[in-house]
Amino acid sequence: MDERHAEHGDVFAERRDKLAAWREAGAVYPTHYQPRNEIASLQTAYEPLESGHIVISRAARQCDFPARFQLVAAMNPCPCGHFGDARGRCRCAPERIESYRGRVSGPLLDRIDLHVELGRVEPSALEGAPDAESSSRVAERVAAARARQLDRQGKANARLDNAEVAALCLAEDRALSVLGRAMKQLALSARAYHRVLRVARTIADLADCAPVRSEHIAEAVALRSLDRRASHASNEFISP
Ligand SMILES: [Zn+2]
Repeated sequence: MDERHAEHGDVFAERRDKLAAWREAGAVYPTHYQPRNEIASLQTAYEPLESGHIVISRAARQCDFPARFQLVAAMNPCPCGHFGDARGRCRCAPERIESYRGRVSGPLLDRIDLHVELGRVEPSALEGAPDAESSSRVAERVAAARARQLDRQGKANARLDNAEVAALCLAEDRALSVLGRAMKQLALSARAYHRVLRVARTIADLADCAPVRSEHIAEAVALRSLDRRASHASNEFISP
């Protein structure tokens, strides 16, 4: 192997080790997403997010690696990180916030199913026992929902392609009209349409409900908060 091939071999080995590490870590790729700095590296995540594998080409070689992972990313709401805080600590100008958030491209946002905003936790909420369903109870519900998916279609909802989504994520007429309104008001892409339907199917499975109902669609759309913000839409449309 000449020096150039040795160099390519190193690159492939490094990528392969990185991808293997993602899978070893439970197929979750967590990152604190800094829109200012990491756009280039996340652009390369488009392909595996969609297809579950990645093809890396160099001058002399091409390799196809399995890369089915779950992307979990976090970002600040604005450059200073305090936007939305009830104490009004954010001093960022609206244009600056828009520019900061605009660095997360539409195509990447499209491929992220759940956008969840986390507010500041008050110290009083940390005192005493948490007033919430236990993690073990939640895990039982998730396992039951997953078992329903495997019984129905032999794979998890996340693995359904668009044709399978159309055939298996059967929604009631009223639910489809809620989705149609969301598509128009939020200017959702066809990709987001299928992703919303898939998430709604999972929400229905968690509730042990055979058809996808309007409340499941509404919840799936509500979990795309960055789309709602980008379109300046209110929550009005999500009332079933
Ligand atoms: Zn700010």
